[in-house]
Amino acid sequence: MQKLCTQCFYIGVEESNIYGDFTTESILWGTAFFFALAGAFETFLWFPATIIFFIALLYSISGYTFKACVCSKCHSNSMIPVDSDKARQIIHERGLVPPAYIVEKDERTILGMAFRTIFFILTVVLVLFMLYDHFS
Ligand SMILES: [Zn+2]
Repeated sequence: MQKLCTQCFYIGVEESNIYGDFTTESILWGTAFFFALAGAFETFLWFPATIIFFIALLYSISGYTFKACVCSKCHSNSMIPVDSDKARQIIHERGLVPPAYIVEKDERTILGMAFRTIFFILTVVLVLFMLYDHFS
């Protein structure tokens, strides 16, 4: 969704929607998945695998929580929906021209999101299996 920044009057997509440290997150989940998979066979790896799993989980949560509304131009936390009354008023007062087209998530990002979701589900299943196996 398009938003207006009340600090620099940038109109566009929030930063988290564009990348949001996507590479770091993917690497973390890839590592978590690898350790969880290895931990399913080598039970002594349950501890590092669980730690990495929680690091990846916390990283994802903090990413969604704190980067949800950051302006991709000035990085201030002051983006408001472009169709809100306040945004309409600012656009009108300043004679701002919203971009003609909206750059939505490209295919690669959607594919990346799908991969991350698969990694996430597989990692959760493996960690649960590993912990069950270790403590039962
Ligand atoms: Zn801004």
